[in-house]
Amino acid sequence: MTNIFEQAQAQFDAAANLLHLSDEARNLLREPMDEHRVRIPVRMDDGSTQVFTGFRVQYNSARGPCKGGLRFHPEETIDTVRALAAWMSWKTAIVDIPLGGGKGGVICDPKKLSEGELERLSRGYMRKVAHLIGPDVDVPAPDVYTTPQVMAWMMDEYETIVGHKAPGVITGKPLEIGGSPGRDDATARGGMITLREAAKEVGLDLAGATVAIQGFGNAGMHAHRLLEELFGAKVVAVSDSRGGVYSEDGLPFEGLAEVKREHGTVSRYPGKLITNEELLELDVEVLVPSALENAITEANASDVKAKIIVELANGPTNLEADKILHNNGVFVIPDFLCNAGGVTVSYFEQVQNASLDRWKLAKVRQRLDEVMTSAFDAFLKAKKEHDVDSRLAAYAVAVERVAQASRARGWIRNVHASATAGAGSGIAAM
Ligand code: NAD
Repeated sequence: MTNIFEQAQAQFDAAANLLHLSDEARNLLREPMDEHRVRIPVRMDDGSTQVFTGFRVQYNSARGPCKGGLRFHPEETIDTVRALAAWMSWKTAIVDIPLGGGKGGVICDPKKLSEGELERLSRGYMRKVAHLIGPDVDVPAPDVYTTPQVMAWMMDEYETIVGHKAPGVITGKPLEIGGSPGRDDATARGGMITLREAAKEVGLDLAGATVAIQGFGNAGMHAHRLLEELFGAKVVAVSDSRGGVYSEDGLPFEGLAEVKREHGTVSRYPGKLITNEELLELDVEVLVPSALENAITEANASDVKAKIIVELANGPTNLEADKILHNNGVFVIPDFLCNAGGVTVSYFEQVQNASLDRWKLAKVRQRLDEVMTSAFDAFLKAKKEHDVDSRLAAYAVAVERVAQASRARGWIRNVHASATAGAGSGIAAM
């Protein structure tokens, strides 16, 4: 199965079966509520005009305003955005913050755009979606190949359109204009909190544990730093879109980050060159997929040797691979739980913007730890209770919460099929 949205729906179906969801709940939750396609004409530096296609999908808002990042990627499709929007709905639910799920994307290659073209594209996208979003409606954020600067241009454009300040319309902004301290490494830090908890469960000592990281962007790079800083773990392999590097003595973060800054790729760091595929199969204790979807499939899952997989990327493991990993005793920390630190601190940013407040970094980190630890506990409880693979357990918690909110609003009458009405109440209480 290669269509990523079909994969997200198949994951949902498995959870719906486990929870004995009613037909009306299944019908509501397996499709996005609203989706939008926009065309954005942009004046290029050479005087020509190029028209870009963008999307915004608002998957579910039963628990609160939609929330989700915006990607600039040449291979973006409506199905990728639908899948990511669905995962956002489950993500905000599993960390129990009062938000729904959405996602956006623009088909473009930002590496080929000048700064001026990127700004005009960002502002152009916002002009097209401004009437669809807002602090109480749907709040975008950065994702693959979008940055705090892109968020700043978009917020500025939105405020110009609506005629008043509205910092809460977008998160991941630079600190000077209402960004939250701690947002830069929030995704990785949240993932490290779940790793800490998973390691306790598995009985793995993280000090000196060997780690391989796929992807060296916002998620992967901060994960590398934090693995060293928080646990004293040893990162032995790292990759990016141009290839990877391996050294059994370890790859110190500072050196690697400098090579990345200087040459644009980690693969120039002295060590053995490896491919992205080889990295996934290394004999390490912890594997951190932090790039794109479908890295671990039925083709390579049985060759994964790691004890714990920290899914900082969205959708790095497909359904078939999940079963193989589960049978092989690999502890997967599922993506929408593992990488929920980003949206959690984005939510803190919204709270600060709405109350014209600024939190100290220590407060952000402490609250992030509380939220992630409690989400991990609910997930682990479901995993043990149902004796299912990690992803299904996380789905069981999240889908039940979104379904209950939909019922409370009157969007559906019954969460569970009538023959089993009340059967899921144990889960509802989690
Ligand atoms: P980024 O753009 O900062 O970095 C992406 C990294 O992946 C880059 O190092 C790039 O070279 C690498 N990459 C791209 N294609 C690759 C390939 N085929 N093989 C190996 N590496 C490849 O993006 P990011 O924000 O770090 O996001 C990475 C993943 O984490 C995505 O799946 C994203 O959806 C997810 N995520 C990010 C956040 C966040 O706050 N940034 C939050 C939740 C989830």
